[in-house]
Amino acid sequence: MAITATAAVLRAPGGPLSVEEVVVEDPRPDEVLVRIVGSGICHTDLGIVTTASPEQLPLILGHEGSGVIEAVGDRVTTLAPGDHVVLSYAYCGECDNCRRGVQRHCRSFMAVNFGGGRADGTTAYRAGDEAVHGHFFGQSSWSRYVVTSPRNVVKVDASLPLELLGPLGCGIQTGAGAVLNTLDPEPGSSLAVFAAGSVGLAAVMAAKAAGCASVIAVDPQPDRRALALELGATHALDSAGPDVVEEIREITQGGAQYSVDCLGLPSVVRQALECLASPGVCASVGFQGVDNEVTLNQGHLLFGRTLIGVIEGDADPHTFVPRMLDLFQAKQLPFDRLVQTFPIGEINEAVEAAHQGQVVKAVITFGH
Ligand SMILES: [Zn+2]
Ligand SMILES: [Zn+2]
Repeated sequence: MAITATAAVLRAPGGPLSVEEVVVEDPRPDEVLVRIVGSGICHTDLGIVTTASPEQLPLILGHEGSGVIEAVGDRVTTLAPGDHVVLSYAYCGECDNCRRGVQRHCRSFMAVNFGGGRADGTTAYRAGDEAVHGHFFGQSSWSRYVVTSPRNVVKVDASLPLELLGPLGCGIQTGAGAVLNTLDPEPGSSLAVFAAGSVGLAAVMAAKAAGCASVIAVDPQPDRRALALELGATHALDSAGPDVVEEIREITQGGAQYSVDCLGLPSVVRQALECLASPGVCASVGFQGVDNEVTLNQGHLLFGRTLIGVIEGDADPHTFVPRMLDLFQAKQLPFDRLVQTFPIGEINEAVEAAHQGQVVKAVITFGH
């Protein structure tokens, strides 16, 4: 019997987003219906707002949702109405990579996260007679109600601040996971983070939680550098400074053992690699489009340095979201300090604030 939901719909490339009522289908037997309480704005959403082609529209974005299970399909046994959940990325659950536990490398990742519909091409959303593309990252959580797969959903404790938890499913997971899952720095080691947005600041907090002795944040914005220092960075450098790489070498007496590139710009990937000690590992999580060529000094790489690309923090959300929440409750991952909330009716202001870098992590709220 379908449900009506307030949603932010992208109807024209570049926006603005249209806040309107859409109709959401009942969940299928293997799906759940979630009443969204909060949803972050991530740079991947902003990228689609700017670059969407007319055939992708109209489209509901949003992929950092948190909410409450409203209904479950007949075949769903792991979740029940009333459960509090965080949503993360979609994966097929059936391909070789999904079966061996690396769902983030699902063979159908692009189709099920960016395809604008379910794997079979259908969409659960419409406005009047018009089909609305959705299922973005299996979520489209800029809608009050979403239909998703139990695979996308991680149950969380009802005592947690639900409306703030959505970014754990993407941005915070990306930064914290690059440090805790991919790099796994030993206590006392040194780690540099390039760009102190939500992903970079999550990496800073995770590095401190891991016991790194030197945590160096690099960012052009003074307020971001100040926040990085509050959240655990031991040093904060201006990326516009004369020689950031040399500064990092001096601080670490020869080079950082680990680094995280959160931008993906060729010049920054190079810096993140060049600041490394020998041996050293750089995790690149920044995204500047799938075609993004970088020139490297192979002679530098040769001496035991590694450059690794990381998607979704190398995380299985079903185990990593609970791990991040344990750290949060131990006051070691205070990601709530990055969040500023905006009601759904102000989503265009929130998008603009995120675009201008005026907020670290904007979260859209729908009320409880
Ligand atoms: Zn798969
Ligand atoms: Zn994201």
